[in-house]
Amino acid sequence: MSQQDLHDLGVAQLAAKLAAGEVSSVEVTQHFLKRVQGEALGAFLATDADVSLAQAKAADARLAAGERSPLLGVPLAHKDVFVTRDFPTTAGSKMLENYRSPFDATVVSQLGGAGMVTLGKLNCDEFAMGSGNDNSAYKPVQNPWDLSRVPGGSSGGSAAAVAARLVPAATGTDTGGSIRQPASLTGITGIKPTYGRCSRYGMVAFASSLDQAGPMARSALDCALLLSAMAGPDPDRDSTSLDLPAVDYAADLIAASASGTGATPLKGLRIGLPTQFFGAGCSPDVLAAVRGALGEFEKLGATLVDVSLPLTELSIPVYYVIAPAEASSNLSRFDGVRYGHRAANYGDLTDMYKKSRSEGFGDEATRRIMIGTYVLSHGYYDAYYLKAQKIRRLIAQDFQKAFTQCDIIAGPVSPTVAWKIGEKSDDPVANYLADIYTLSSSLAGLPGMSVPAGFGAGGLPVGLQLIGNYFKEGQLLGAAHQFQLATDWHQKAPGTLA
Ligand code: GLN
Repeated sequence: MSQQDLHDLGVAQLAAKLAAGEVSSVEVTQHFLKRVQGEALGAFLATDADVSLAQAKAADARLAAGERSPLLGVPLAHKDVFVTRDFPTTAGSKMLENYRSPFDATVVSQLGGAGMVTLGKLNCDEFAMGSGNDNSAYKPVQNPWDLSRVPGGSSGGSAAAVAARLVPAATGTDTGGSIRQPASLTGITGIKPTYGRCSRYGMVAFASSLDQAGPMARSALDCALLLSAMAGPDPDRDSTSLDLPAVDYAADLIAASASGTGATPLKGLRIGLPTQFFGAGCSPDVLAAVRGALGEFEKLGATLVDVSLPLTELSIPVYYVIAPAEASSNLSRFDGVRYGHRAANYGDLTDMYKKSRSEGFGDEATRRIMIGTYVLSHGYYDAYYLKAQKIRRLIAQDFQKAFTQCDIIAGPVSPTVAWKIGEKSDDPVANYLADIYTLSSSLAGLPGMSVPAGFGAGGLPVGLQLIGNYFKEGQLLGAAHQFQLATDWHQKAPGTLA
């Protein structure tokens, strides 16, 4: 295989080549760095060839010493909300321009320890707030399937980079859909694990009761390989990380592909379709692709059952009270003293805070701080924040009711395919509405994934969402893997690819 084709390989395939000694990590890294240096999508915010090549050399040394592990020597890039010692971390905000963390996020050090090579940091919506990556303080990201369109958000840089084969895999974070929705809009695979499955230590906090890290790659198998290294308890650093040992999510998938489980490997799997996910709010092209994918699951032996998540509509107001409330608290540390940009000219202390924060935060972050402060203030706390928390609990209960009738819940990820850059920039509510199918499972803390399921209007990718019960990441990845063994939607590449 020529060097030119290395970027067509996924994580598992690259790891196999590295293990077989057919290519070195330095060669793979150089190949991807060259692609990244020529990228015009706006996906990357930082690279450092010296750092990446030093990591690749270290991986090659481990390979030469006979070490064999599933991610050793394979490159990836991190969403710029994971703090990194060797690269700047901005969280997509001017507030953190040129910020260097003195330590690595747990997820970053775990993937680094597994031998992955960091190619750089990926663009995102400011503090992970957005659905189109047009809230980045630096530049919008273009969708490689149509450069005039958004890649989704907030992990838009991660999604675009994986879809355009600038990296074989990336990390993302999902607070209300930010792994699943950009994965859907760019035709890649992404999984948000159960809340607490991966450590949040070193993730720039947006809404702490919702934030969760996860992998974005081209296939369920590649996501499983990454998640196995990312997941696991972090008791000394994140008290909300689950006390469950790391799991080898890929082992079952690899065994399933090797053994060939027959024509109906998903026999016995009950897939619940919430009525509320298939209503008038979803555009017909998306529904057609989703239904087509579900037909494939039926062929694989799964049965489809109707379920109901009656409070789906309320997930938008509930999320957009709780997430801003937590954000307003988390972002208070960016005051120009403890963290973040400090205004050059100011009068007294209050003036310094005001100017620093006004200059450092963009419109969406400011809007959420104002909403959050409002709903937490005396007199409004009960009416908004407490009420939202109560409905959040009811939303979680609805899922548990649905899971008495099914094993996995399925539906669309996004009500439409990718929209034009700028189309929703002046209309925050239009952006918020695009999150309708991802917010409820986030509020419940459930794992969810997006699997490429076909194409909709304009030949743009559509993702199928699979939502599992708590800790059922393995089941989601297994079902998605069987679907990907039977279909090739996840292997399609954008026509704009160089
Ligand atoms: N689009 C949602 C928001 O703007 C979700 C973002 C996320 O998951 N980080 O808050």
